[in-house]
Amino acid sequence: MTASVISAGPIPGTGRAAQGAIELRQVSKHYGDVVAVDELDLTVQPGEFVTLLGPSGSGKTTTMMMVAGFEEHTAGAILIDGKPVDTLPPRDRNLGVVFQNYALFPHMSALENVEFALRMRKVPRAERRQRAEEALDRVGLGKMGGRKPRQLSGGQQQRVALARALVFNPAALLLDEPMAALDKRLREQMQEEIKTLQKGLGISVLFVTHDQDEAMAMSDRIVVMRDGKIVQSGPPEEVYNHPMTDWVASFLGDTNLIPGTIVERNGEEAVVDLGGLGMAKVRDRGASGENYAVSIRPEHLKFRTRATAGNGCAATLVSSTNLGATVRHRLTAGGHDLQLRELSSDSAARIRPDEELWVGWDADKAQLLVLES
Ligand code: ADP
Ligand code: MG
Repeated sequence: MTASVISAGPIPGTGRAAQGAIELRQVSKHYGDVVAVDELDLTVQPGEFVTLLGPSGSGKTTTMMMVAGFEEHTAGAILIDGKPVDTLPPRDRNLGVVFQNYALFPHMSALENVEFALRMRKVPRAERRQRAEEALDRVGLGKMGGRKPRQLSGGQQQRVALARALVFNPAALLLDEPMAALDKRLREQMQEEIKTLQKGLGISVLFVTHDQDEAMAMSDRIVVMRDGKIVQSGPPEEVYNHPMTDWVASFLGDTNLIPGTIVERNGEEAVVDLGGLGMAKVRDRGASGENYAVSIRPEHLKFRTRATAGNGCAATLVSSTNLGATVRHRLTAGGHDLQLRELSSDSAARIRPDEELWVGWDADKAQLLVLES
């Protein structure tokens, strides 16, 4: 466990009230025939950490560029703290920006890079130096202000970029894949540090990633994007456990998708005929379409004894693979191939291939969704 090097606290000299609300109303961006962003409605509340999650080309960066003011939107309105910003240049939007392609100036030291953000905003020279030093301190680089970017590691350069984004006390932070170039360990460390910093400052963040784990770890709310549109939005657990379509379920990790026919829908719950897997009670969030399936995450499928009540069926073990912390079992049940994941420490060493088993799941862990593909 690495100690956090970023110290969180109120920004010195600011008695800042809750601010940093970002609102997009029906915002679109067309590049000729390409619809990069399609009538997007999105809000970030003051202090909220919202993540745009989606595959490459889904419109995440375009959305960020429009909020930052680097791209003009084709239609709709963008408001920051209730005020339309459509005609404001980027530097007057009071947003701290860390984008992949918004690199540090190579000829300037770390300190000069951070100071630059203040120079742009006409902060007096005397005040600039001190504030830039404080900002570098905040990201754990107080002693490295004299170094040029090439004399810093990738992670340190990203910290300088973060200091530069925070130094003018912005209303909100826009972070577009800020950790994409870092290796896994450093990435996880930076994730925790950004979270700590964000909570300490109470600053709102609009974050972009295509990495599901990163989105799960950092967000108050995940907004899943596809083809320039929002396909689902909610707290991480909600989106993970209750995807509305097979596409969202599969994009957010492994899942068992079992096609079925709805027998009954009553508010929160539905009864679905899963063919060979029998009748199942599942969660129903009102997804509506032509074809339906039930999604059960591999870790929510459990070995059970036949006597246990509830959803379940007989299954045959095909293979077991030890993945370190977890074991992945492949099963067939009712004519379906299923995956069951359990902790290695809980793993049923007793079971052997071809043995007949019983697998089950809790109704609140199975989700009725629309089959799109
Ligand atoms: P993401 O960040 O989710 O990977 P982008 O916002 O970069 O996606 O891109 C969304 C879509 O808009 C893609 O189809 C991309 O090719 C297109 N696009 C982005 N920028 C431009 C541009 N300057 N000109 C034309 N098409 C663009
Ligand atoms: Mg992008």
